[in-house]
Amino acid sequence: MEGPPTPLDGCNLLGLHTVSNLIDPSLGTWNSTLLHSTFSNETCWQIESIRPRSGLPDIRRWALTKNGDFSVKSLHHKLNLHSFPLTVHHRNNIWHKIWSLKTIPRIQMFVWKLYNLILPVKDYINRILHTNDPLCPFCDMHNETVHHLFIDCPFSRAVWFHFHQATHLHLHHDLSVEEWISSWFLGNNGQEQEIGWAVKCATICWHIWKVRCKVVFEHVNPSPRDVACSIMPYLFSIQPSSPIHALQTTNDQTTDNVSYWTAPSFHVIKLNYSASYSQSVNNVGLGFILRDHAGRVLGARSLSVAASSAEESDGLALLTAVQWAVTLQLRNVVFEGDARVITRYLTSNQGTVGWRTKNLLDETKILAESLDSTVYVYIKKNVNKVASILAKKARIMLVDDTWNHQPPSFLFESLNADIQSVIMDVP
Ligand SMILES: [Zn+2]
Repeated sequence: MEGPPTPLDGCNLLGLHTVSNLIDPSLGTWNSTLLHSTFSNETCWQIESIRPRSGLPDIRRWALTKNGDFSVKSLHHKLNLHSFPLTVHHRNNIWHKIWSLKTIPRIQMFVWKLYNLILPVKDYINRILHTNDPLCPFCDMHNETVHHLFIDCPFSRAVWFHFHQATHLHLHHDLSVEEWISSWFLGNNGQEQEIGWAVKCATICWHIWKVRCKVVFEHVNPSPRDVACSIMPYLFSIQPSSPIHALQTTNDQTTDNVSYWTAPSFHVIKLNYSASYSQSVNNVGLGFILRDHAGRVLGARSLSVAASSAEESDGLALLTAVQWAVTLQLRNVVFEGDARVITRYLTSNQGTVGWRTKNLLDETKILAESLDSTVYVYIKKNVNKVASILAKKARIMLVDDTWNHQPPSFLFESLNADIQSVIMDVP
């Protein structure tokens, strides 16, 4: 019931000042005869569904909260509902906006599922299959609904917290999921939000969902900071007019002072590549080492090829690295090499490279679009030691070798040196 009940026209309200006047003092129940002479049947039914507080004084109850106590939150929620009227036209408009998000189709599809509440969260699955496992995999305290997972869960809120712009979202945490997603596109005053804002929200949600699936199916145990760090390379790439995978730059100036290898963020793989060129024989050795956030080796390669210059060798090394990442179906990859001119050309289109190298790098760019995110980083040669050793071996021995997980023993010393300096690589 919203607001006070309206009495019937022409009824006698004399002596009716408080709710207690409608209660039979001897029985402690509603005075049914008086009620029906005062209000409509529907209002009477609503009143009679409330259990009277017999013998206790009247108190005011707030209709917008479950416990009847007033809260600013409930009032805010009510006001927000008026700010986001979800008419059919509005909903169609939001669908159009979701499918127009400047991001990869996978994220568009994800947001569409999110908006329509058809993500297979545990609460939803439990209602259908009675799995008796409805709890949120992050906090293990509340049922995993879409609303809880992305808006209310302390874990997800901690992830959002890393993105300062996102904190205002939680002023709206009483909104439904539909209203919340609508708010990505429209401000309270009905004006368009900052370009790319919705893409950022979509990206953060998508990552929360991916990590949630890893927790459920692979029993990993990430921290909110790990998740935030894995999202950052994506957010840095978002330009108003560019797709998410197009360019992710790491300023090569900042790596000049770095004297040790750093591990990538959680859920990101780092592929170090290097080329060893000998002018006398035009013979090139390429070396590759693939490691995760803990510095674990996921693969290593030595490859012998031919090239006409040192620059072309470096281009060939990067192209081969990207080809390998695509073959392995990696998603988020940092390609780290010791050829500054190559990295600069890819990240900023600055500097000139020979036409042979340009062809290689243009091919690299196109190929890298099939990965979810790519970051190109320049590091000094002595920091890229493992890949350099593999490249040199390939050049001198003319070998093609691939190692999966178990690296060759001649790399142990350099790998150990890198492990000693493993730190979180926060972009
Ligand atoms: Zn939770």
